[in-house]
Amino acid sequence: MSRTPHFRVTPVAEDVHLVDAGSVNWILVGEGDALTLIDGGYPAHADAVEASIREIGRRPEDVAAVLVTHAHVDHIGSLGRFAARYGTPVHTGATETAHAHRDFLEQATPGQVLANVWRPRVLPWALHIVAAGALGAHRLEAATPFPVEGALDLPGRPVPVETPGHTSGHTCYHLPERGVLVTGDALGTGQPLTAFEGPQPLVSMFHHDRGRMMDSWSILAELDADHLLPGHGPAWRGTPRKAVEQARLNASRVW
Ligand SMILES: [Zn+2]
Repeated sequence: MSRTPHFRVTPVAEDVHLVDAGSVNWILVGEGDALTLIDGGYPAHADAVEASIREIGRRPEDVAAVLVTHAHVDHIGSLGRFAARYGTPVHTGATETAHAHRDFLEQATPGQVLANVWRPRVLPWALHIVAAGALGAHRLEAATPFPVEGALDLPGRPVPVETPGHTSGHTCYHLPERGVLVTGDALGTGQPLTAFEGPQPLVSMFHHDRGRMMDSWSILAELDADHLLPGHGPAWRGTPRKAVEQARLNASRVW
């Protein structure tokens, strides 16, 4: 018996929706009938991704392309099925494309998670992600590098912003016409493993290079936007500069 996991769709800006599936987000950017889907949750979220698209009055066939912030299982888990079913192109940067193909892997190991299981909140979260399909190999062969440099000719005119650190090829997406910055896991606003909300780094075991990621925050701080949409946590209202200031202050509160 399969059941579509619960999710919640929040309108954020002009035809931009954040979909919160509990432990991870994906984002829908519309223009006319067409959509850009950014990330796609865990393997168990495959039906929820399609249901969220229908909830805003579109069809999965309307997705012009899927963009990936980074190739961790909680962001690409459902996308292999989606791409195969609808023939949708999937793009990310060249480095992250190799990561999606699992030419290399920069992801917290089960051993790292176990080493932290004494901490509050870690065990329930670990059980949740196992149920969501986190274990096993998650290769996304459909991923290909961006077809052009700069703004993409897709709904919302997303501009990829290279933000290495969380993974070596992590990419944020700036939607200048919508006043939105999609931050992926370069900058969160809440997470199952901390007890507070607000701009913050994810816990350290998830980052390939935390210092490099925090250096990338300087790139985000220069961008013009009114809304941040992270991979984990609620939509956040304010400028990227303000978010980065708060994240730097909050960094010491995150293990
Ligand atoms: Zn994530």
